[in-house]
Amino acid sequence: MEHIEEHKYKWYAFGCKDATYLMGKKEYVPLSFSEKALLIFHKLTCKYCRRFAAQIQKIKAFFRTSAQESSLTLSAQKKQSLNQLITEITKK
Ligand SMILES: [Zn+2]
Repeated sequence: MEHIEEHKYKWYAFGCKDATYLMGKKEYVPLSFSEKALLIFHKLTCKYCRRFAAQIQKIKAFFRTSAQESSLTLSAQKKQSLNQLITEITKK
């Protein structure tokens, strides 16, 4: 697996870009204690990143159930429901 560089974050300069980066990173490798703390703190103060985190969870849940089917392609019906899900979670 590709090595992901450890960033040195300064808490006062930690922004949405860093938060979304860490939310992606944690899907592949466990976050360090300070990364987790920064992310939790950022989400407490930023409604946009809270919303983004919730959207990721919903899309992950969708693919978790879709992955149980053996095929790697999405059926027309699955595509339709993914489309609906994305429309629904992004319109708020
Ligand atoms: Zn943010």
